[in-house]
Amino acid sequence: MKVIRLREGKERSLLRRHPWVFAGSIAKGQADAGETVRVESDDGKFLAWAAFSPSSQIRVRAWTFDESERVDHAFFKRRIGAAVALRRRMAVESDGVRLIHGEADGLPGLVVDRYGDLLSAQFLSAGTERFKSTIADVLLQATGCTRLYERSDSGVRALEGLEPVTGWLRGEGNTEVTIREHGWQLTLDVQEGHKTGFYLDQRDNRARLADWVRRFGCKRVLNCYSYTGGFSVAALAGGAEQVVSVDSSAPALARATAHVALNGHDPARHQALDADVNGYLREALKSGERFDAIVLDPPKFAPTAAHAERAARAYKDINRLGLKLLAPGGLLLTFSCSGGIGAELFHKIVAGAAMDAQVDGAILARLEGAPDHPTTLMFPEGEYLKGLAVLKQ
Ligand code: SAH
Repeated sequence: MKVIRLREGKERSLLRRHPWVFAGSIAKGQADAGETVRVESDDGKFLAWAAFSPSSQIRVRAWTFDESERVDHAFFKRRIGAAVALRRRMAVESDGVRLIHGEADGLPGLVVDRYGDLLSAQFLSAGTERFKSTIADVLLQATGCTRLYERSDSGVRALEGLEPVTGWLRGEGNTEVTIREHGWQLTLDVQEGHKTGFYLDQRDNRARLADWVRRFGCKRVLNCYSYTGGFSVAALAGGAEQVVSVDSSAPALARATAHVALNGHDPARHQALDADVNGYLREALKSGERFDAIVLDPPKFAPTAAHAERAARAYKDINRLGLKLLAPGGLLLTFSCSGGIGAELFHKIVAGAAMDAQVDGAILARLEGAPDHPTTLMFPEGEYLKGLAVLKQ
């Protein structure tokens, strides 16, 4: 077993059970991509069994802090079994569930979503790539699913020196699935959809939107960055008379339109607009439009903290425009899924936007990702989705 020796003082994060070691913390040691290594402190004490990643800045990702544990088939069975059991205890009200959420489930770099009877997975680290076949077998055993689609086409694979890979890993057949969420039906295609196919992390926020639309009697709802219209279906279910979905992806909008009909709503209540949100918001303001509720759920503007400043300006801009477009008393649901923007900073950005729009707002709720996308105490970097529900004053 190869040994990776850390520089003096660099053992602290592993001792706190934080799973990452950056390249600059390593004194000596080399291994192949994904190889399991023994990580030791400067004075030779065991710290973790970990996956080595020669080309990544995150050079080491810990599998376990227990010296007696082996990283083998049984290890993945225990970890995956625990993750699946946790979701069962959470009693997620959908058959679309995030089963494995990377570091938060003790499986750095592995993301697995269950959509009905099929699994869709991303192998995003050298370690998960190396154990792919074992992980695939264990996933099927642990879930009873017979099909597993691989969506390892995320840009972060390049940082690990890995090529994009997509396709059936186990089983085969139709890549299209229908899931049930809060009594609504939503479809996705694991081959064509974003990420693993769908944005499960917004599940509970979609339900809250439906409730608020009902409670506040919102008539006109604007869903910006709508993707396949999850929030749009929620708004219609909540009783909105008119919903506008704006996205720059034509296939996503086609699916949003189909979702309106699939859920039994009159197509005349929904409009799908293929447009850049920023441009649309400006146009809508110019033409004097008004909405009773607006959802802003943009893509990641700041992948890392280094992009935070430019991203902050972009978030502020859309939030300013959104707040202006809202009718008095209107509801803004605004999100950031950038890891580089914390909840506190996001709050400040939205406050800045309100200042520029010369309005105030009452915070109705602070929002986060659904619990099947857990954040753990020891790994705050896992926290990415944050949002605010604000009533314009
Ligand atoms: N709210 C959605 C998920 C949104 S993901 C849900 O609940 O499912 C972000 C979406 O923003 C993607 O669908 C992407 O196509 C879209 N997008 C990215 N940049 C955009 C832009 N400048 N204008 C409009 N849409 C954009």
